[in-house]
Amino acid sequence: MIQSCKCEDGGQKIIGVCTALNCQSKRASCVECLKQLHLQHANKFLDLKKLQVFQEDQMKTFSYLKKLQNDFNRLKSILDNFIVSLNIEAHEKNIECQTISQLNSLTDKLVKLNYIEQSGYLIKSFQNLIQNMEDAKNNIQRLKIEYTLNEFISPSQNICISVNSSQLQMQIILSLYRQQKNMNTLVIKEKIRFSQQYKTDNIVLKDQETMVQTTDDKFGWVLCEPGIIQNQFVKNFAFEISKNDWLAIGICHKDQFLKQKGNFDIWDNNNHGCYLIDQSGKVFSQLKIEENNKSKNFKINNQDIIIIIVDKTNKKIQWINQTQNTQLWIMEFDASQDFYPVVCLRKSSIKVIDLK
Ligand SMILES: [Zn+2]
Ligand SMILES: [Zn+2]
Repeated sequence: MIQSCKCEDGGQKIIGVCTALNCQSKRASCVECLKQLHLQHANKFLDLKKLQVFQEDQMKTFSYLKKLQNDFNRLKSILDNFIVSLNIEAHEKNIECQTISQLNSLTDKLVKLNYIEQSGYLIKSFQNLIQNMEDAKNNIQRLKIEYTLNEFISPSQNICISVNSSQLQMQIILSLYRQQKNMNTLVIKEKIRFSQQYKTDNIVLKDQETMVQTTDDKFGWVLCEPGIIQNQFVKNFAFEISKNDWLAIGICHKDQFLKQKGNFDIWDNNNHGCYLIDQSGKVFSQLKIEENNKSKNFKINNQDIIIIIVDKTNKKIQWINQTQNTQLWIMEFDASQDFYPVVCLRKSSIKVIDLK
């Protein structure tokens, strides 16, 4: 049984749901909520009849995923059985102590294993599979990041505004819509990579420049390219922490950052040109000295994925821990200058992930 709408003007009948992925407003809506919160993406608003059809379509996607899962499980059980028949037990390792029938059974397994190696085709097919599995794993990770991203982007639209909204409120909504449109139209094609040019010597790049690590015990830093261009209003990217001794992640104004040359220092003053958070929960700001080198209540751990949302319109940079689904920190920045994603690290390793 469907209840009535939970908005301020409560009591109205639910007429449908919003299926826009990045919609920040409650999905089930009354007619007033539709007008005020979902008008810009009204093509994604479905009445309950259409929702039924939508559900049937999406069930097909789910069935497909289930089929993939079954195929994988079937392959796993075939592989399990195959390997079990070739298993060399501990007592078989000592050849001297075998009976004739044990020796024959052991020799049989060794001959079969040798044939697997010599013929090569089984191992080759699994090598190809593993390469594709890596791709699939990355794509699942990417989807999870994109879902989280949509939860945290432009949270100001989360408010359900009263039905008798004033002219001013309407204007606010309209300007939010325009911002959203700008975000959608300004997408850069070039993927974010670590820079070969702007880095310290003790940093090596791996995996097509998506991964960096330090080669000694000293501090290092590396910028990512491309930077954020003049007419781009929002940029999202993420860092996956592979190994973590000390590291700080965020953005920097390139020219100001590069002026430091060898004297990398974000602790004693705030003229470093960066906006960073480090793994121990400290924040660093170029803009506000009172927000520089200050401890806050969060930690970054190994394997965490940290999403960074840079919003030029609102002059805000936001760090989100995708693994824990929490906002770590939000900070104001100088949006009048260019900026580049940046990683500072010591005895650590980190991967960059480009997001839409
Ligand atoms: Zn409502
Ligand atoms: Zn919506």
